[in-house]
Amino acid sequence: MAEEATNDATVLDQWEQICAQLKTEIGETAFDSWLKPLTVGSFSDGTMNICVPTRFMRNWVITNYSDRIHKIWQKKNPQIQSVNFVVQAGQEAVISRGLYNPTCRSLLKKINSTPLPQDVYHSGINAAANANDGILSDSLSVPLNPQYTFDNFVVGKTNEFAYAAARKVAESRNISFNPLFLYSGVGLGKTHLMHAIAWHIKQQDPSRHVVYLSAEKFMYKFVRALRYKDMTAFKEQFRSVDVLMVDDVQFMGGKDTTQKEFFYTFNSLIEEGRQIIISADKSPADLEGIEAHLKSRLGCGLVADIHPTDFDLRMGILNSKANQLGFDLPQKVAEFLATKITSNIRELEGALRRVIAHSQLLNNHEITLDMTQDVLKDMLRSFDKRTTIDEIQKKVAEYFNISVKEMQSSRRARTVARPRQIAMYLAKQLTSRSLPEIGRKFDRDHTTVMHAVRKVEELIIEDVSLAENVEALRRILEA
Ligand code: ADP
Ligand code: MG
Repeated sequence: MAEEATNDATVLDQWEQICAQLKTEIGETAFDSWLKPLTVGSFSDGTMNICVPTRFMRNWVITNYSDRIHKIWQKKNPQIQSVNFVVQAGQEAVISRGLYNPTCRSLLKKINSTPLPQDVYHSGINAAANANDGILSDSLSVPLNPQYTFDNFVVGKTNEFAYAAARKVAESRNISFNPLFLYSGVGLGKTHLMHAIAWHIKQQDPSRHVVYLSAEKFMYKFVRALRYKDMTAFKEQFRSVDVLMVDDVQFMGGKDTTQKEFFYTFNSLIEEGRQIIISADKSPADLEGIEAHLKSRLGCGLVADIHPTDFDLRMGILNSKANQLGFDLPQKVAEFLATKITSNIRELEGALRRVIAHSQLLNNHEITLDMTQDVLKDMLRSFDKRTTIDEIQKKVAEYFNISVKEMQSSRRARTVARPRQIAMYLAKQLTSRSLPEIGRKFDRDHTTVMHAVRKVEELIIEDVSLAENVEALRRILEA
C-alpha cells in the first residue's frame, strides 16, 4: 500500500492534479511562468524532490508556492512529508516510452533507480547551481549525452570546418593543434561536437582519461576547493587528464582568480602534451572580461567557428531528427520549419519536438502544415518579433515613469540608475548584443553594463518586488 502511494504512475498522476489545481488558483500566466517548467524527481524518506531549471526560479517557487504545493500534496498523499526543490539545469522534456507528460512537461525519473542515459540526461551546464553536486569526491567530468555523437551530427557548409577539426582531434593521437577553440552563437552545436570527441576517444581507447566540464563547473570546483583549503586535491584531479574540454569559457569573464587558476592548469597540461578543447560564444579576441594573456593563449591553437545555419543544413537536421524519433516529416512541413526557424538548431529541434509530441498525443495523427502552424503559433510569433535595445529602453523607461533621455543620461539618482541597470540586464538577456554594443546605447562602457547585469542578478534573488518588476517587464517585451 505504502509503495503504491509513491510509485511512479501515482506520483505523476498526483502531480498532474496538483498542477491543474494550481493553474486555476494562480492563473494561467503565473502557472506557465513558474510552475509549468517544474518536473517531478525522486521520492525518498518522505521527501519529494522537484526539479527546477534555474536557481532564480527555485528561490521564487520556494518563496511563493512551496507551502501550497506541500499542503495540497500532503492532503492527497500523507506519505509526502516535505517537498524539496532541486536545481537541475538543461532539462528538456524527452519524448520516450510514453512517459511524456503534456501538463507538467515532466519525465518522471525512476524512483531510486539509475536513469537510462537516453531517457534522462542532465547536461551539467550550470551544475554549479546544483547543491547536491559533490566536489572533491566526485569525478571531474559530467555525464556525456549519448545522442551527441559524430554520427548524429549533420554536416553542412556552415559547420564543416569545425566538424573536420573536431574529427581530427578525436581521431589522431598526435596533437596537431592545441588548444582547439570552438566558437559560435548559442544552440549551434559546440557542446554536441565536444561530446562527440569525447565519445569517440572513449571508444577508441578507453584508457585515455577524457574530461568534459563546463566553465561554470570548473569555477564552482575551484571556489569550493579554496573555501575548504584543498587546492592540492583540486590540482591533483587534473594531473592524469589526457584530454580536457571546457565548455562555455565566456562564463569565466570577470572572475579573475578562477581565470588565473585555469590559466595555470591550462599551461601545465599543454606543456605536458595533453589535448585541450575549449568552447565559447565568441572568438578568443572578442571574449569579454578575460585577461589578455589568457585570450592570446586560447587563440594560439586552431580556432574554428560555427556559422549560423543555412536552409540546407536546417532541412538536413530536421529530416535526420525526425528519422531518429521514428517520424515521417512531410517535405512541406520541413520546408516551413526550416524557413521560419532560423535562429539556431536548439530552437529548431524544440519546434520539431513540439509538433511530434502533439501528433503523439493525438494517437499519431498525421503531421500536416496546418497542424504545425497551429501548434507553433506562439513560438512563431515570438520569432517574428525579436526585441531591440531601443524597445527595451522605451518600455523600461515607461514602466518606471522616467524618460529615455534620463535613462541614457549620467544621472546617478536611484530612481534613474535602477531602471537603467534593469534595462541593461534585459538587453543582455533578451538580445544577442554584446556588452560593448549595449554600453554604446546607454553611453556607457562595457564594464558598466557587466556591473549592471551582475547587480540585477543579485537583486533578483534578494528583492522579491524587484524580481517581480523584472519579470513583468520581460513578459511585456516578449509579448
Ligand atoms: P551550443 O553548445 O553551441 O549552444 P549544442 O551543441 O547544445 O549547441 O546544440 C544544440 C542542439 O542542437 C543539440 O540538441 C544538438 O544535438 C543539436 N545540434 C547542433 N548542431 C547539430 C548538427 N550539426 N546536427 C545535428 N544536431 C545538431
Ligand atoms: Mg553548449
